[in-house]
Parts: sequence; structure tokens; C-alpha cells
Amino acid sequence: MAHGPSLFEVAERVEGDTLERTCSDLGDCKRCKLHRHRNKIVFGAGSPTAELMFIGEGPGHDEDLQGLPFVGRAGQLLTQMIEAMGLSRGEVYIANVVKCRPPENRAPEKDEVASCMPFLLRQIASIQPKAIVCLGSVAMQALLNTNKAISRLRGEWIDFRGARLMPTYHPAYLLRNPHAKPEVWTDLKKVMAYLGLKPPIRGASRS
Ligand code: SF4
Repeated sequence: MAHGPSLFEVAERVEGDTLERTCSDLGDCKRCKLHRHRNKIVFGAGSPTAELMFIGEGPGHDEDLQGLPFVGRAGQLLTQMIEAMGLSRGEVYIANVVKCRPPENRAPEKDEVASCMPFLLRQIASIQPKAIVCLGSVAMQALLNTNKAISRLRGEWIDFRGARLMPTYHPAYLLRNPHAKPEVWTDLKKVMAYLGLKPPIRGASRS
């Protein structure tokens, strides 16, 4: 199967790169078939100097309409997770492995990920986060080029492009399986410890 990292090496690093330049180069992108049904490209949002990035799989219905990542129900839960870590959405950076909504919310296909990934890699290279929280199996498998299940790799640090990457469950999974929330909180606490973050008083009793 032709989906190795070499496909991602086209323009994943650009000298003097910025998020603005990456967004400009992306333009009105039609590099993969996902452009056909999208309303808005969801480039990503947050601080260009964030120490922490969250990366999910792709936009859903609400994100496609607003052009912003994680603004639906799963996004509200992600916001709660970020705030429980003592941060705000404006202090982190949130993006996805594909920037256009897959039809029927299916998982993005390999050719779509390969087309879009260089832009995400440029965003990571510009932001230079210390830590990346990878949300769900689709994002983890795309970023790490692995077929391993999220349940096998979650909770373990993985070195990734100068950052430390922590795979954990996607907030949409947590909405369907709230019993998995403590595992995600355990993962997020590792990220907090690494970044020297302290939870706000309200979140301090969570465990
Ligand atoms: S998913 Fe990415 S590569 Fe495909 S059309 Fe959208 S922005 Fe372009």
C-alpha cells in the first residue's frame, strides 16, 4: 500500500514558514476529493506559539459550517478538557489531519490524508509545540503511520517531530463511552505534568 511517510515529504517544511503562509499556500484547496462537498476549510485555530496542540481526525457538520475546529458537541467536551488542564482554547492550537469534512462523517481515506498532511506538518513546524495530544485512532494512525489501535498506544509518550505526542481517545468517543473519561484524564495529567500545568481549583478534584 502506498501510504508511507514519503508521501508527506513534498512540502512539509518551508524555510521561514508561518501559519499565514501555510494558510495562503493551502488557498481554496482542491488537492483531494474532500473539497467537493465542503462548505468551509477548517484550517485550525488557536495560538501560533502554543506549547500544546490537539489534533483530531477531521471536521464534522458544525465545523464545516463555521470553518472552525471542534465546535460541536465533541468540541464542547474538548473545551472542558482544555479548561480542566488550566488552559483556554486560545492558549492551545487545535487542528485536524484533514481540513475538509468527509461525507457522512466517514473516516478520511489514505489519499485524502496524504494530500492534506503536509499542511498540518507545516503548522506543527511553525508552532513548534512541546506536546501534541492526538485525539482518536484515525488521527493517531495517520500521524504515526501505524495500524495499531488507540487502545494499545494511548497514555504513552511518543517522540514526534521535536514534540512529545500523547495519543488518547477522541471526545466524540467519550460522548458515547463516558466510562473512558478517567483514562483520558490520566493521559491529560501526564501532559500537564510535562508542561508544568496546574489544574484550576474547580478541576483539582477530578481523577
Ligand atoms: S482535505 Fe485538505 S487536501 Fe483535501 S481539499 Fe481539503 S484542504 Fe485540500
